[in-house]
Amino acid sequence: MARYSGSVCRLCRREGMKLFLKGERCHTEKCAIEKRNFPPGQHGKDRKPKIVGYGLQLREKQKARRYYGLTETQFRNLFEKASRVKGITGENLLNMLERRLDNVIYRMGLATSRPQARQVVRHGHVQVNGRKTNIPSFTVKPGDVVEVREGSRNNVSILSARDATAHAPTPNWLDVDREALRARITAQPSREELVQIQLNEQLIVELYSK
Ligand code: SF4
Repeated sequence: MARYSGSVCRLCRREGMKLFLKGERCHTEKCAIEKRNFPPGQHGKDRKPKIVGYGLQLREKQKARRYYGLTETQFRNLFEKASRVKGITGENLLNMLERRLDNVIYRMGLATSRPQARQVVRHGHVQVNGRKTNIPSFTVKPGDVVEVREGSRNNVSILSARDATAHAPTPNWLDVDREALRARITAQPSREELVQIQLNEQLIVELYSK
């Protein structure tokens, strides 16, 4: 599956907000949003055009897609899936994004960014309910147990991420045992706990419903 491999700070600058794609650097003054909070490119510093209508909808979609690290096709497919589930489509979409295995590893504090969490999963360090699972898009559900596999418990990158995120809050829908590198999914994430950036999911629904 194709993956964006360019500068991720450009993505934050385009959205005009931190998307936390670079781990610890995002919390320092080296963050590009702290230093150059204007759109990338030759005309980035020019007067900002007022974004309305389709532009607004597009920016919200791009923001969510980049925050969770999905390609356009993956994001669109997930939207289709969310629209077929009972309930509010926008919330269903965010709920599904949040329950992705790579996001769960990030929320457990076993990676300092979602791209790093994705790599932890891809490299086969994780198991769900005792079975090795190396698919970042795997969707967890209440009752599932996510943990680092026996042979990866001394993995330096996982352990240093755990130390670096020691003071980061863990969401209520995860019962995390940081020592054991394990978490149980206790509930569905509530809307307040979905996406920790400002996002209007209704605009995404409007964009895709055209
Ligand atoms: Fe780069 Fe992280 Fe800052 Fe985004 S939040 S601009 S990824 S350092």
